[in-house]
Amino acid sequence: MLSQDKPGLSIDGALLDAINEAAVQTYPNEFVAALRAEKGVINELLMLPGTISGERSGILQLHMLPIDFSVVGSVHSHPGPSARPSEADLALFSHFGSVHIITCLPFDRTSWRVYNLRGERIELKVID
Ligand SMILES: [Zn+2]
Repeated sequence: MLSQDKPGLSIDGALLDAINEAAVQTYPNEFVAALRAEKGVINELLMLPGTISGERSGILQLHMLPIDFSVVGSVHSHPGPSARPSEADLALFSHFGSVHIITCLPFDRTSWRVYNLRGERIELKVID
């Protein structure tokens, strides 16, 4: 069993780069997706139909999520220099999944942060 505090997960480095690329493409709107993991490695994004883009509204539409235990959390971009979760982000984190990534400008390997369901910083190992 994976604990929610130490998810014991890693992330595929290529996926991390794809997330940052998507954030660049979506800028100045927010990029939002769900994260899927296989054998403890986050390796796929799940794009949700009907996701709203735009500052302050880049919230995952939870009712659109499939019932799928490979979904471990969420990722979204902040079109600014801060990866701090907003109040709305914290509300989302607490309701869904255990790993939540926020990437911010400049959208590279140094600009992403990972949070647990309480909005506390956690680490994810990057596998290249
Ligand atoms: Zn946010």
